[in-house]
Amino acid sequence: MASASSTPSSTASATASTASPRTSGVRVRFCPSPTGNPHVGLVRTALFNWAFARHHGGKLIFRIEDTDAARDTEESYRQLLDALRWLGLEWDEGPEVGGPHAPYRQSQRREIYDDVARRLLEAGHAYRCYCTPEELQQRREEARRAGRPSGYDGHCRDLTAEQVAAYEAEGRRPIVRFRMPGETITFTDLVRGELTFTPENVSDYGIVRADGSPLYTLVNPVDDALMEITHVLRGEDLLSSTPRQIALYRALGDIGVGTGAVPEFGHLPMVLGEGTKKLSKRNPESSLDLYRERGFLPEGLLNYLSLLGWSIAEDREVFSLEELVEAFDIRDVNPNPARFDLKKCEAINAIHLRQLPLEDFVAACGPWLREPHAPWRPEAFDQAAFEKLAPLAQTRVTVLSDITRNVDFLFLDEPEIDEASWQKAMKPGAEGVLRSARQAFEKVEWQADAIKEAMLAVGEEHGLKLGKAQAPVRVAVTGRTVGLPLFESLEVLGRERTLARVDAALARLEETA
Ligand code: GLU
Ligand code: ZN
Repeated sequence: MASASSTPSSTASATASTASPRTSGVRVRFCPSPTGNPHVGLVRTALFNWAFARHHGGKLIFRIEDTDAARDTEESYRQLLDALRWLGLEWDEGPEVGGPHAPYRQSQRREIYDDVARRLLEAGHAYRCYCTPEELQQRREEARRAGRPSGYDGHCRDLTAEQVAAYEAEGRRPIVRFRMPGETITFTDLVRGELTFTPENVSDYGIVRADGSPLYTLVNPVDDALMEITHVLRGEDLLSSTPRQIALYRALGDIGVGTGAVPEFGHLPMVLGEGTKKLSKRNPESSLDLYRERGFLPEGLLNYLSLLGWSIAEDREVFSLEELVEAFDIRDVNPNPARFDLKKCEAINAIHLRQLPLEDFVAACGPWLREPHAPWRPEAFDQAAFEKLAPLAQTRVTVLSDITRNVDFLFLDEPEIDEASWQKAMKPGAEGVLRSARQAFEKVEWQADAIKEAMLAVGEEHGLKLGKAQAPVRVAVTGRTVGLPLFESLEVLGRERTLARVDAALARLEETA
């Protein structure tokens, strides 16, 4: 499985590689920073890149942008890999898979970035900036007050040797700044159309910290260039960095890093949560873990997430991943913000659950019928009994974790009585219904239709419709007012256990009378 990719390679070099095998020219990347838990916004970005690569027969490169030692964690790195594996979004190059541009963790590529930064400085595309944060801040405020653009003012662009020596003598440690070419930058965004940025709005920016470590602003385009990325599909929050990166790409081409070709960009729409607010990472609905723990199907979740900015056709919301790949066109992505709607996400997942072949549904339920999800003793579980009710459950659950509550009455020694359900069902008259039902259940043939007939007769005897008559029986036997169809449930539970539960309910009613 693991190939020779996860260690820094001594032959890693910043020169263009021409040897990568290709089926189509398309090469996209998913390049998260390993901070925090994977969230749905991240998954949507991964999905669109994956779908784009698969649609074009191209390659998805998975790269880890871990150049911020203060924030990146190994745990988060593991979670990212695990998330993509669970979702089934396979990558063609990256961690554990390897590839011609290994290593794919930026923390292992430091020598490449050091080399590129040095060459950018030598070629004059970058310079050392000695300004302190306080000085920068002060000049920014002055500019703002004077109504001038508040980006970096170019103070250190052309320092003389004497000025540099003076700063060095003061003990200042410079950052490296990229020199913007001072020209208007125009590009055609695959989602947003033509965009133009004038030089006043894009100032020179830092690419190496004062401690010598490279910044995201450098490593992201350098790796895109070296890894021959053809299309950059990412969130619109990164749009303002695109003109800077385009200028850097051109400079990289000039110093022989990569091919000099600038990738195409497509900025995906923002995802809104409640109101007009951006869906925040802190919002519980955004955590991927929640969806895994509740038992969403990867294809159900991905189907829903694909609708955040894209649609397969009017009036069509449910489709398979194959259909998504077949139809996916980045130019169909809508630039307007998309709203995250958990209810709709659940509804789409429920449809995917119903569409599973029964045996796949049964298999998918497996984890939710065992510890730690299942509240019953492990040896009390009976697979054959579960499979009898599985077809009825399949049309009723929204997420797989719902299955546990739907069948717990079968495997618990005693049903877990929900008090609100008890109060609702055990109204005056319930005792009489339970007694009649008990009598009928003793002699009826133990089969759902026959049990139903018997229950209809009990209802008639008490002047009740079936629904009202069966409520106390349901609560006595399953503990709740809602659940799977009752008579099939009783058939599977068996006569003896049903009678024992009716007796227990009668005893409780007597006690509290
Ligand atoms: N590591 C960057 C992020 O997580 C990637 C941005 C990009 O796709 O260019 O925001
Ligand atoms: Zn400066």
